Amino acid sequence: MARDVTVETTIDRSRLAGLMVREVKRFTETHPESRRIHADAVKVLLSGVPMNWMTRWPGGFPITVAEARGARVTDVDGIEYVDLCLGDTGAMAGHAPEATVAAVDRQARRGITTMLPSEDATWVGAELGRRFGLPLWQFTLSATDANRFAIRLCREVTRRSKVLVYDHCYHGSVDETFATLDEAGRVTPSFGNIGPPVPPAETTRVVLWNDAAALEEALAQEDVACVLAEPVMTNVGIVLPDAGYHTALRELTRHHGTLLIIDETHTICAGPGGYTAANGLEPDLLTIGKAIGGGVPCGAYGMSAELAERVLAGTLWEVADVGGVGGTLAGNPLSSAAMRATLDRVLTDEAFERMIALGERFERGVAGVIERYGLPWHVVRVGCRSEYLFARERPRNGREAAESMDAELDAFMHLYALNRGVLLTPFHMMALMSPATTEVDVDRHTAVFAEAVGELAG
Ligand code: PMP
Repeated sequence: MARDVTVETTIDRSRLAGLMVREVKRFTETHPESRRIHADAVKVLLSGVPMNWMTRWPGGFPITVAEARGARVTDVDGIEYVDLCLGDTGAMAGHAPEATVAAVDRQARRGITTMLPSEDATWVGAELGRRFGLPLWQFTLSATDANRFAIRLCREVTRRSKVLVYDHCYHGSVDETFATLDEAGRVTPSFGNIGPPVPPAETTRVVLWNDAAALEEALAQEDVACVLAEPVMTNVGIVLPDAGYHTALRELTRHHGTLLIIDETHTICAGPGGYTAANGLEPDLLTIGKAIGGGVPCGAYGMSAELAERVLAGTLWEVADVGGVGGTLAGNPLSSAAMRATLDRVLTDEAFERMIALGERFERGVAGVIERYGLPWHVVRVGCRSEYLFARERPRNGREAAESMDAELDAFMHLYALNRGVLLTPFHMMALMSPATTEVDVDRHTAVFAEAVGELAG
């Protein structure tokens, strides 16, 4: 059973509601151009946005971006923001990093997509191998696709039907992963699962993060092709693994003939080789996307030599292009050039050192404010990604993390920061450091956070 970590709050809700009204008014008044553009967009874009989740930014309408460079975003009303959201990791390399832009410019003039290899892809494969310890790589256009293809390959080589994921995980729009546990512990479609193709219980087992006994039980039937896991949960707030959990996960998967896919899309924040390299994990497959192309669409999955042999042995070459692992634009020269430049010149080992130091500074700043005001909140960090949660204790699994969410407070904190020039990752209180982020940027957030808390405390 989940422990009770529900928001233990000292926040006066009527005070919070009043402050929110004030902040929405301020936002509306200071963003006339964003508002006008959104009103026009409603006529041609569903809900007035290119993707529906963009409506979830607090304030009534999203800001429209005029320019994004380095760690800054400027909107069409001329307001500049310190961007700690960084496109939810897509722009972790900083916006429009010079080396990536130059490589993309150069490559775009020499061909964008060809259905043939470019040399950059080989360089990127070798570099991903150096970083993550897996020797053989394939490319996609998104992390979602990397996960989808990795799952398919696992099913194919193991001849098993099931996938195991963690309660409240997110791995992109991958059908098998939109499953959760109901109160009785049964697998059920996750809340908001749009048009599931089949009941997810047919494809998926779900267990709570950090529950090794439940994992063992779920794998014991030996029908699970793969476990797909973030090494640290990051999409329901940050939920760290307990000491020894990764060892158990690896041992149990090996013991039961289940392949292990580690999704490093977000946790590359832990270092140049993500959480995997930083903690000596040994996955069979590793998936990644977003950050490694400096914002240019790309994704990748790497596999062990042993798995590669099994994959190759089962490949039907005459239909390899239409077998369910593909993508005409995947591995295109433009994405490959962007990945090479970003990994070689931007998200370098040295850059990570600076970014992680900034993450520590962010964590210290927030912890100081929480302590000063005696709030029942805490701050947590994975490398250069940090987050505060509105609960005193760290959650141990996705359910506990979800229960500690406070939508009202979350929206207020985001809008308050936005109105003072700081963009936080929407839907939870997460901040990411890029190579372009500075100590001044971090301190600006700390000051705004302290101001918000001061107003809430009254
Ligand atoms: N894996 C993880 C861990 C993610 O957080 C996400 C997106 N937030 C994805 C995969 C999918 O990435 P994309 O939407 O770029 O395909």
